[in-house]
Amino acid sequence: MCRRKGEKRGSDRMKVSRGPLTDPNVRWTTAAAQAYLAAEPGAGRPAARVAPPGRPGSGEETDRLLADGIEHLRRGMSPQEPYLWRSDRATVHHDPCDAWRGAAGVLATLTRAARHRPSTIDNTALDLVKQAAAWVDARLYEVSRILPGLSFGRAGTAIALYDAAVLLGDSRLAARAVALAHCLPVCGPNADVTNGVSGAGLARIRLWQATDDPVLRDDALAGAEAVLAAADRDGDEWRWSIPSTTGATSGTHSSYGFGHGLAGIATFLLHAAEVADRTAAAKGATPRRDDLSGLSARLWRAARGAGETLLRAARPDRGGLFWPATPDGDDRIDGLHWCNGSAGAGMFLIRLAAATGDDRFASAARRCAPAAHSLWTSPPGACCGLAGAGQLLLDLADVTGESRWRADAARIGEVIADQAVAVDGLRISAEPDNGYAYGAGTAGVLDFLLRLRHGGPGPWLPNLRTAPAAAVADPSVSMGAGSLVNGPDRTVPIGQS
Ligand SMILES: [Zn+2]
Repeated sequence: MCRRKGEKRGSDRMKVSRGPLTDPNVRWTTAAAQAYLAAEPGAGRPAARVAPPGRPGSGEETDRLLADGIEHLRRGMSPQEPYLWRSDRATVHHDPCDAWRGAAGVLATLTRAARHRPSTIDNTALDLVKQAAAWVDARLYEVSRILPGLSFGRAGTAIALYDAAVLLGDSRLAARAVALAHCLPVCGPNADVTNGVSGAGLARIRLWQATDDPVLRDDALAGAEAVLAAADRDGDEWRWSIPSTTGATSGTHSSYGFGHGLAGIATFLLHAAEVADRTAAAKGATPRRDDLSGLSARLWRAARGAGETLLRAARPDRGGLFWPATPDGDDRIDGLHWCNGSAGAGMFLIRLAAATGDDRFASAARRCAPAAHSLWTSPPGACCGLAGAGQLLLDLADVTGESRWRADAARIGEVIADQAVAVDGLRISAEPDNGYAYGAGTAGVLDFLLRLRHGGPGPWLPNLRTAPAAAVADPSVSMGAGSLVNGPDRTVPIGQS
């Protein structure tokens, strides 16, 4: 029951038929379903969404989604237009080169696709990487102001361009990406990840891990100092006040999420603490975590304190953990959100567990995994949907070494596949109405499916570092030594990194 792109409603409208959940060739888009329901209430409505019986993961099925998805991105590329991939949803102007709505996010996905060269994807992805990287490079400074955010500023742009440059073996392009990272604001009115200086800091640390560039390191630590200074402490509680809109001079909000609140900011401070320790160690010094005159100790205290704040604020529900929308509110964030919900909180908590050896954080991170019943009411996207929650599960698998998380991630892959729609003969893993972009569209979903199918580190954040096995051991699970992703596409056993 699919209305293919370009088909009109009317007497030739496709009939409701069997298999709408499992056969994308007979599935409507959301827009088609909405139009149908609005026009003819009660007449032949499709069945409600229900979960089909579980089935083994199919690499062949995922490969089809990946091959069709890359072809979808190829067909959607428009180098002569203001946006390399136009977003059908975009009703406002946005940065054409940012990660969530612009070209950088799609470039990141294409780079991962080309790096892994799955058998069903030929050189199309590599050709697209070359074209997209050149397009972004030509517009690197064509913006009125370089904004720091990972998602909506140019921090994600620097990461995507650097990774593409490494893939292409293009040292000039890599230098351009690092130079862009040098230009990101170190401090500013917004401390968050998506729009603010924590996004810039995370990008600097990720690129420093790859380059050892001392400017990136020093600016990352300076940014961490600025974020620490901006903390809005309330006793033992850690929080940050974030401008309600970018550039707002009044009106702030505070939240626990990764994109706009505590979990993401604390992730930056945690990685900065590790940078400070490694920097001191390289100079032959041993940083003392009880000496609060030192940056390292203050960063560790903030990261751990933020973790404690998250633990205190968590609301249990059917075995899982959720957080209120604001520290003083009762509204709960529903849905599988990387940006505002439990998925992003879990990404911080599992990193904190790996770094501190405190298994309370590991236990809480496990409880951020999505419940099976929640999968069928979530969109597929990376920011606010299934793909973002799937990335948490793959992080949990990488850190703990527990196979169940990869199995759960595969289950999310199945749900994404079961909700795929047919457009112009291709199986598309995100609603076409959501466009091609990373945040809500095709590219972010494909990035998760690529990592699920081929492994590799998570997107956008610094690499996971060493973890004491005791920190992440689940007493209910028999497990061997955990493993950590350390650098692109390399997995090293704990204790050998
Ligand atoms: Zn989101």
